[in-house]
Amino acid sequence: MANRALSMFGNAVRLKCPRCGVGRLYAGPFRMYPNCAHCGLTYEREQGYFVGAIYINYAATVLIAVPGFFLLDVFTGITIEQQLMIWVPFAIIFPLLFFHHSRSLWLALDHLFNPTKSVYTVPPKK
Ligand SMILES: [Zn+2]
Repeated sequence: MANRALSMFGNAVRLKCPRCGVGRLYAGPFRMYPNCAHCGLTYEREQGYFVGAIYINYAATVLIAVPGFFLLDVFTGITIEQQLMIWVPFAIIFPLLFFHHSRSLWLALDHLFNPTKSVYTVPPKK
């Protein structure tokens, strides 16, 4: 299980299919392939499937911004206005940059804990 989880996490970080690690997830900046070109795994299992990725994106943003705020407050003593000038743009820009990886991590996490849905695959095109 741990090796499988690490492998899937590695695939997610590289934006590859969680099952085979070969197929790419994205065709462009905002376009995801519907399924893996190598193994046929359907990426969006159902409508609204990637809502979970929003939670991952939000969690990553908060897990960086909140400790970052307190670390800067303790170690630099900068004003609250300066903190806001750092963390408000961060909270807007980081989720956009992390969009691909949050979907990829959600897909890997779901595939790790619920691989039985893999039956909903389409065969790769010949
Ligand atoms: Zn695949």
